[in-house]
Amino acid sequence: METREDLFASTAARAAGYRERVAEAPVFPRDLDAREIRTALGALQDEPAGAKATLDELATVIEPALVATTGPRYFGFVTGGALDAATAADMLAAAWDQPAFNPIASPGAAIVEEIAGGWLKELLGLPPEASFGFTTGGQGANTIALAAARHDVLARVGWDVERDGLAGAPRVRVVANAERHVTIDRALRLLGFGTSVIEPVATSTNGAIQLDDLERTLATGPHGPTIVALQAGNVNSGAFDDFEVAISVAHAHGAWVHVDGAFGLWAGANPSTRHLTEGVERADSWATDGHKWLNVPYDSGYVFCAHPESHAAAMSFTAAYLVGQGEGAGRAPSDFVMESSRRARGFATWAALRELGRRGVAGLVERCCSLARLFAEELSAIDGTEVVNDVVLNQVLVSFGDDSETERVIDRIQRSGVCWMGATTWHGRRLMRISVSNWRTTEADVHRSVAAIEAAMQRDWLA
Ligand SMILES: *Cc1c(COP(=O)(O)O)cnc(C)c1O
Repeated sequence: METREDLFASTAARAAGYRERVAEAPVFPRDLDAREIRTALGALQDEPAGAKATLDELATVIEPALVATTGPRYFGFVTGGALDAATAADMLAAAWDQPAFNPIASPGAAIVEEIAGGWLKELLGLPPEASFGFTTGGQGANTIALAAARHDVLARVGWDVERDGLAGAPRVRVVANAERHVTIDRALRLLGFGTSVIEPVATSTNGAIQLDDLERTLATGPHGPTIVALQAGNVNSGAFDDFEVAISVAHAHGAWVHVDGAFGLWAGANPSTRHLTEGVERADSWATDGHKWLNVPYDSGYVFCAHPESHAAAMSFTAAYLVGQGEGAGRAPSDFVMESSRRARGFATWAALRELGRRGVAGLVERCCSLARLFAEELSAIDGTEVVNDVVLNQVLVSFGDDSETERVIDRIQRSGVCWMGATTWHGRRLMRISVSNWRTTEADVHRSVAAIEAAMQRDWLA
């Protein structure tokens, strides 16, 4: 007889085995046949299948089609690799199946989220009285923060956007780093501003906002409700806006300052990179990810807001209600996010922070940055390569000559199976984009990846 114990034990063993093997598996699936997968899994059956048979069928067919993002040599996007404790905690979260709606729906989920939120603020150097929400990711966090901003800047001129919407509302200006992440634009679309509202501010050679241009833009435009969107960690170069100055300038113009720090905000959790986020605590809202640099499984992001009433006014069911309402009922997670019912995301984050501790989080950030510098050093030493960004964090941008030569090397690397790097276009050039954000990556992985890149540069390269 098939027991529940068997099902969950064999699933756990499968997960552990996969995570063990993934370090040496091809980083991107080889000879993937999508049609075969669709045929194997695609027929909706009339009869129920046993639980164990169902899991075996799914895992056997899909494992060869997975990308080794949890392995040590995946350097695409800024993915991170999901720590063991955080992953196991997420498995428990699924098994416990708690709706993290409010303390009545699940006291355990609400309390752990409250604790983890406090820890995050401390580690990132954000104000302890800031409100927070556990989101699906950076997109969700940026959207919520900008919704709070929308509420706040319009309330200040006497407009209730939650009640009356944007039709007929005073015009809101949005001034943003020209190299902002596209999720800012999508958030502005979803919030009814549209993307044409954006007044882009020029960037420096490394992709940080130009302060004189920020000042000029704010001073010359029509005055009124204003949101300024800054960036901690340029998505290509890793550059940081100068928060100390930019926030002072923006506040002098009465603007709400939002900081998108999907991965860069984590620089604040490590003593040797903390200077990069200096002054960031004076912003009005912040977005960051758990599933990137903190190495929590998808989907995990965080939004923080220095004005809890505006945050709750934008997100809670009843616009005007007090934070922590229900006298002594405790914080309701759903007052700070877009979902009402959702998975208890706090468990995985709590587990990641408990497993690492303050020192472990700092060490993770430090190690990734130092491995990024190692990449830059070793790649720069090869004839025909050029590292084009100032490597201030965990991002390295590399050219291999002209755009087509660079494309060729990236394509070869992506098919090599040894490692995986993405491509980007930055400041008019096609570049390899290397992001070091996985807790499992070591110096040996960098050496091995650089050797693979050097081989891919050879004209007689054979896949
Ligand atoms: C990844 C990223 C986002 C979006 O985050 P998701 O978690 O993918 O939604 C936003 N901003 C920056 C700078 C990012 O790197």
